[in-house]
Amino acid sequence: MPQTPPKFIILDRDGVINLDSDQFIKSPDEWIPIPGSLEAIAALNQAGYRVLVASNQSGIGRGLFEMSTLNAMHEKMHKLLAGLGGRIDAVFFCPHTAADDCDCRKPRPGMLEQISARYGVELKGVPVVGDALRDLQAGVAVGCSPHLVLTGKGRGTLDKGGLPDGTRVHDDLQAFSRWLLAGAGKPAAAS
Ligand SMILES: [Mg+2]
Ligand SMILES: [Zn+2]
Repeated sequence: MPQTPPKFIILDRDGVINLDSDQFIKSPDEWIPIPGSLEAIAALNQAGYRVLVASNQSGIGRGLFEMSTLNAMHEKMHKLLAGLGGRIDAVFFCPHTAADDCDCRKPRPGMLEQISARYGVELKGVPVVGDALRDLQAGVAVGCSPHLVLTGKGRGTLDKGGLPDGTRVHDDLQAFSRWLLAGAGKPAAAS
């Protein structure tokens, strides 16, 4: 029988949980949830899923905002989510720019490897949800199942094509959550 994946969900942040901007999200005021996204996270929590975020935040490396501002954005996120009875266990972020050539900037899987190490779990089969190809590429590199949402950059990502094999497409995080909680995300029974 295949091993059951841990009940984890790994989310990209900008364009999945909150509205994205080509000018970067640089302040708590600019951090605005996509309608239904926080409710979707709360619903996943209620079904026993731990929700984690893995986010490229090169705005730090570019000097567009400080770490304290990033923390303030996440405080806002956690607070709004708590008001709905939801919780994000941890936010992993890469503060580097492409020029830094780090291991954590997606499409590299470093943040997912950090999650795996911190929780002591294999991520094979864990859903990774993103709006950009690199989110999905980082996920499949560690065996996650790729899910594209059409919010944020998602429509453009779909149009460009070249998605990893087995990518499922959902309108938004709420549609993903409903799909998963309806039981559609369970692996096929082993024969
Ligand atoms: Mg994104
Ligand atoms: Zn990095």
